[in-house]
Amino acid sequence: MTATPPAPVPTPAVPALFTTAAAARDHAHAPYSRFLVGAAIRTPDGAVFAGGNVENAAYPQGQCAEASAIGAMVAAGARRIAEIVVIGAPADPAADASGLCTPCGGCRQRLREFSAPDTLIHVAGPEGVRATFTMDQLLPFSFGPDNLSF
Ligand SMILES: [Zn+2]
Repeated sequence: MTATPPAPVPTPAVPALFTTAAAARDHAHAPYSRFLVGAAIRTPDGAVFAGGNVENAAYPQGQCAEASAIGAMVAAGARRIAEIVVIGAPADPAADASGLCTPCGGCRQRLREFSAPDTLIHVAGPEGVRATFTMDQLLPFSFGPDNLSF
């Protein structure tokens, strides 16, 4: 059974985030999977941070696009994600690119660290955003920083 994904939510920042994520995807290092992913984060004050997936010949050392974008955000001193666009599709334009490139389980937790329950995660293909999830939809009953406030 496949659940129906939620419809895209076209916020004012989506077009610019899509363009930035697409540019990061163009620079992704994915010679093994040939599956290119780009991500662009917007912080509440409007700053944008991007990243692509970075694979490695030692496969487990690879890093997802979301993790790359989060690293850039943190390096700049930002700590909150207002919304993120993630674009993923095979490098081969003739390949089937119809799948929904939702963040992997590990990245859902990475995003959760800097997100609110209503933070928007826009999931896109090369043609545009295909679905928009809230953080709480992608990772319900999650464990986050508040669980460690003593
Ligand atoms: Zn991931």
